[in-house]
Amino acid sequence: MPEWLLLNCAVLGRDTAVAEIRKYVDCRELPSESDCSLKISGREHEVLAAAVHHAVSSHGHAETPELRAALRAALKDEQTVPSGVGEPTR
Ligand SMILES: [Zn+2]
Repeated sequence: MPEWLLLNCAVLGRDTAVAEIRKYVDCRELPSESDCSLKISGREHEVLAAAVHHAVSSHGHAETPELRAALRAALKDEQTVPSGVGEPTR
């Protein structure tokens, strides 16, 4: 394998790790006339896709670039709990 390809892999690997930060969008924090409490979490593109679908199917929004932008702006970093913390003690 050529050296530049190995180098590329290392760079791509770091990018992937950064992209693993989970995002969430909470319907309660969005302006809405319905009393919706749905929270969607996952990778950014997954949350955005699900949130757009949810806004269209459950809230009657039109799927527009504006809606996408508003939902993307509403995405927040999810606090990751370190493993071993918060587990029930027996
Ligand atoms: Zn909702």
